[in-house]
Amino acid sequence: MTLRLVPLPAPLPDLDALPPGAVRRVVADASYAFPCRRCLRDAEPGEALVLLPYDPFLGTSPYRQPGPVYVHEQVCAPRPDDLALGAGRPAPDQLARRRLSVRAFDADHLMVAAELTDGTAVEDVAQALLADPGTAYVHVHNAGPGCFAVRVDRG
Ligand SMILES: [Zn+2]
Repeated sequence: MTLRLVPLPAPLPDLDALPPGAVRRVVADASYAFPCRRCLRDAEPGEALVLLPYDPFLGTSPYRQPGPVYVHEQVCAPRPDDLALGAGRPAPDQLARRRLSVRAFDADHLMVAAELTDGTAVEDVAQALLADPGTAYVHVHNAGPGCFAVRVDRG
């Protein structure tokens, strides 16, 4: 089964409407430490980003909670080729190099399964979770800091 990566499935919040201190502007000072969740690329040192609270759910759920994500300060976009997973396509480097928490949700936005995995195996884990017809979609988070990485849908 081909899988589709969905960066930032819900809209970003209005940054001006968030309380003081909730949005931080930062400049990357190391490689592989500032993962932009909009283009699915880690920022290079010197690139400007915004750190903000983000809720990826598209429906009401007890699992909803905002968590920290980075996005490039300038508008960016993923390469279309980076959004297909499976059929021989490896996971984007941003996922492959991290320990991940992969969480399956049903159509009512309730969690039905969750697994920890090395990022190099994220496709296999997502494939297994989405092979269950009870799984509607999968959320991927960085396992340690908990930040949302990407949603995975079928095909
Ligand atoms: Zn970006």
